[in-house]
Amino acid sequence: MQKELQEIEKMIVVSQIAASVSHEIRNPLTTVKGLLQVFKERELPFEKRQNLTEVALHELDTAINIISDYLTFAKPQVEKMIFLNLSEELQQVISVLTPYANMQQVTLTYVVDTAQPILGDSQQLRQCLINLVKNCIEASPNGRVDIAVLTIREHIVIRIQDNGTGMTSEQIQRLGIPYYSTKEKGTGLGMMVAFSIIKAMNGTIKVESEINMGSLFVISFPLQLNLND
Ligand code: ADP
Ligand code: MG
Repeated sequence: MQKELQEIEKMIVVSQIAASVSHEIRNPLTTVKGLLQVFKERELPFEKRQNLTEVALHELDTAINIISDYLTFAKPQVEKMIFLNLSEELQQVISVLTPYANMQQVTLTYVVDTAQPILGDSQQLRQCLINLVKNCIEASPNGRVDIAVLTIREHIVIRIQDNGTGMTSEQIQRLGIPYYSTKEKGTGLGMMVAFSIIKAMNGTIKVESEINMGSLFVISFPLQLNLND
């Protein structure tokens, strides 16, 4: 009974966020539509048009960022937890993010030191890791982000470490609150989505961070000992 209530509560929160996210995507698109309408109907001086084009591009960036931080998570999805090979999952995540890391001169490395699978949803796990690693890259220009996957006793542990800006304990507390962002073009949805996915996959996450030293995210999933469990 207790659990059922919690589930319902969680669903309400998730659907409220979904509603606000679609609002957040609709707003910039409406602005862009209005601007295109203006372009169509009026001859604008070159500089004015240039400025409005900048506004439109900025608005589109906002919509794109929200979609990339959030979309996989929002996909209506039946729970389809399967055994995931972490080497494959990590390889995929690394190949998606390597061009982004290169752009910011960040060295991105990973090592998978376990053959144990975890139980989860591949799309969602990838979205979660992409959101976390992307933040690490953004916090560490010219720095490094190192990922390691290992088995520690009854757990599969994914460690993601950067040597970037770090966070104060107050900032750490705010992680995962919808729309909390310190970035100019931030969505403040990446961590919320990552935390929700880890929870849905029965995992936990711990964060350690120090200003100007970097951050460490330790995700832990239960070890699956028996396929019939
Ligand atoms: P966004 O990246 O769009 O700002 P997120 O939800 O992904 O939104 O992250 C929220 C905030 O958490 C970021 O704006 C940043 O302040 C902080 N943060 C997350 N990861 C890190 C990190 N690895 N290093 C420093 N700050 C971080
Ligand atoms: Mg982010």
